[in-house]
Amino acid sequence: MHCNTYNHRFNFSRPGLPLLREHVSLKPYNTFGIEASARYFAVVEDLASLKAALGEERVRGLPLLVIGGGSNLLLTRDFPGLVLLMAIRGIELLGEDAQALRVRAAAGENWHGFVMHALAQGWHGLENLSLIPGTVGAAPIQNIGAYGVEQDSVFESLEALEIASGQVVQMDAAACRFAYRDSVFKHAARDKLVILSVTYRLPKNASVHADYADLKAELAAHGITDPTPRDISDAVIAVRTRKLPDPALIGNAGSFFKNPIVSAEKLEALQVFYPKLVSYPQGDGRHKLAAGWMIDQAGWKGRALGEAAVYDKQALVLVNQGGASGADIAALARAIQADIRTRYAVELEPEPVWI
Ligand SMILES: Cc1cc2nc3c(=O)[nH]c(=O)nc-3n(C[C@H](O)[C@H](O)[C@H](O)COP(=O)(O)OP(=O)(O)OC[C@H]3O[C@@H](n4cnc5c(N)ncnc54)[C@H](O)[C@@H]3O)c2cc1C
Repeated sequence: MHCNTYNHRFNFSRPGLPLLREHVSLKPYNTFGIEASARYFAVVEDLASLKAALGEERVRGLPLLVIGGGSNLLLTRDFPGLVLLMAIRGIELLGEDAQALRVRAAAGENWHGFVMHALAQGWHGLENLSLIPGTVGAAPIQNIGAYGVEQDSVFESLEALEIASGQVVQMDAAACRFAYRDSVFKHAARDKLVILSVTYRLPKNASVHADYADLKAELAAHGITDPTPRDISDAVIAVRTRKLPDPALIGNAGSFFKNPIVSAEKLEALQVFYPKLVSYPQGDGRHKLAAGWMIDQAGWKGRALGEAAVYDKQALVLVNQGGASGADIAALARAIQADIRTRYAVELEPEPVWI
């Protein structure tokens, strides 16, 4: 785990030329453990090396893929362009006012390392997001969330390199258009920006979020009635470790499908046939359906198509049992989508980015 102290400076200005390698296996860089190769590949540790890699004559006009931890990626083919492994590091306390601390973390920082570092400094607000794999730079891409909190609740702004202009731009939350596992970076801004750093505004008097059922149960099991942010983090880590497969042991990208959001009328119609359907009100008249419950009820838990399988402890997670290709995982995902469409007339949208 990489963890800088807050007064480490960002190394944006250090000059350096990245080594552009050719035909590099991406297997070590995606948590599904899928074999696919990059035509060109470079590790970027600062803005100068990022710009240098993008400016290379050999990669002009070719598609670009930024990889952080590769924990939200489904590689379905060899990548014909330039893959950049984001490795810019640094965590910095920018300042504070009466209400909050402003903390900037570089895109290549490990997310969980950043959360642990924050807790160690007494900075609160990120504890529910403990143990999410990947990097800080990818957190805004799908507005990561877990156990009742999404990163936009403490997001202030981010800095990104606009590829077309070569300019570093700043974006606030409105510009990022955060939504449930979604942002502008999955749509209009896809492939147009490289996120360099993210600044969070961490409240000084953070009230903890302990309402999520699994979290409540874990805290209760330890007799904790008035949890601190550290208690929340410990409980989240314990629950996640029990429920989710470790990518180091079995390839996966966490939840493979988003929970679909439907109207109240649609929910009522479904409940006629499925009275036990698990759903959560969204506060706007709509309801989020538990995709894992639907997949489980449809009999998919533990089923495999070749080396691609539905995790036997959590139906929302697809796993690579060994030698699955991206196409194998995609075929399993499509079979599940088709079955859920037929049974529930609901469309399941994948959460990872498909390449
Ligand atoms: C076991 C497990 C559990 C998980 N649990 C959760 C969870 O609870 N909640 C949740 O929200 N997610 C979860 N995830 C998904 C994943 O961890 C997050 O989406 C994470 O933010 C991905 O980070 P990454 O660095 O691995 O991104 P990558 O997979 O490397 O990239 C994902 C996308 O972001 C783009 N990208 C990455 N970095 C940059 C950058 N600097 N600039 C521009 N684009 C960039 C990539 O091009 C790609 O499109 C889980 C995954 C696993 C394997």
